[in-house]
Amino acid sequence: MKVYLLLGGNIGDTKSLFAQTIKLIQTEVGDVVQKSSLYESEPWGFEHEQNFLNQVVIVETMLEPINLLDTTQQIEKEMGRVRKKSQYSERTIDVDILFYDNLVMESERLTIPHLMLHQRMFTLEPLVELSPNFIHPKKQKTLVELLHECSDKLFVKRLAD
Ligand code: ATP
Ligand code: CA
Ligand code: CA
Repeated sequence: MKVYLLLGGNIGDTKSLFAQTIKLIQTEVGDVVQKSSLYESEPWGFEHEQNFLNQVVIVETMLEPINLLDTTQQIEKEMGRVRKKSQYSERTIDVDILFYDNLVMESERLTIPHLMLHQRMFTLEPLVELSPNFIHPKKQKTLVELLHECSDKLFVKRLAD
């Protein structure tokens, strides 16, 4: 199965935390076949002095959706531990499941596609970089169409690779 994961973080050396997270994804989830650039954005929905970094990765996985969630949550925990050692507190690395092939599902723990992805420029920008013509299986629109329709005005900046 081909899955799209969104990495997010705004604490510490996010770039190197993302690199460590991708290594864990590679061993625990599956082959990381594509990575977007890093995107810097204003914190979405609340005030925070530190801007966020986001990156989308595409992974080939054998894990069932719920096992994928368990695994990504385990990775978030592992990354939290790393961060604690270097004396950072607060929010660590966030790993969200955006798409799981063309699956549409809704359960108590897991909604796929991710409920908010079409409302967030910081998610749509890296998605469109990788797969502009991918069709959102619930909205039945391409990612580039969803980007054009999105009314999120927070700034998102693609960082040089
Ligand atoms: P948001 O989901 O709006 O980006 P968040 O990432 O800050 O918010 P978390 O605290 O990381 O929220 O996650 C809350 C819960 O969301 C998780 O415990 C998980 O069970 C649930 N969840 C539902 N759908 C998904 C998904 N597609 N990917 C990741 N978590 C999900
Ligand atoms: Ca999130
Ligand atoms: Ca999350």
